[in-house]
Amino acid sequence: LSAINAGAIDTLSQNFPLCMQNLHMTLRANSHLKHYGRLQYTLFLKGIGLSLEECIIFWRRSFKLMTDDKFHKEYKYNIRHAYGDVGGDSNRRGRGYTPYSCQKILTEPLPGPGQAHGCPYRTFTGENLTGLLQRVGIQDRETLQGVREDVKKQRYHVACNRVFEFAHKKEIKKVKDDGTWSATDLDTIVHPNTYFKRSWLLKH
Ligand code: SF4
Repeated sequence: LSAINAGAIDTLSQNFPLCMQNLHMTLRANSHLKHYGRLQYTLFLKGIGLSLEECIIFWRRSFKLMTDDKFHKEYKYNIRHAYGDVGGDSNRRGRGYTPYSCQKILTEPLPGPGQAHGCPYRTFTGENLTGLLQRVGIQDRETLQGVREDVKKQRYHVACNRVFEFAHKKEIKKVKDDGTWSATDLDTIVHPNTYFKRSWLLKH
């Protein structure tokens, strides 16, 4: 994947896992995201290869109603901090924070009203989760039923992998049939950045 710029995120978001698609859609709907959502999303974007400069452009453009002054004073620092450009202990300087794994996202406190961070398989009610999945193109009844059962057993990442497999069914069959991917290339996904990378590779 060549250099990603801020303008590519809308298109690339089709390959994002549900947690990040939810953050992206909430950001587009409200032109804003609360702190933990911004942090979760910023680190994910960093993980897919968005540079600090492009990440700042992405957030600046996304907060459509905000003045430059407010953005620079209250928001820019946190983005630079996540990338390790400012602050942090000597360990983190220059590197910043690591993109969150599913385990980290799944064990965080649940989002409160107006917050969109976390894993939707865990944080959404059954009905809202089905609605969200349908909005991102998962209409298949069998998959939606499977997700409901996984969620009931609190097997959230299993639900996520089920959705991945459905959304990439044709592509997975092809790489398996022609032997270009081994079984390890198709291991259970336990990190949102792996979800994106695998999705992107399969679709291109
Ligand atoms: Fe995101 Fe992981 Fe939840 Fe999937 S299981 S939606 S990648 S946090």
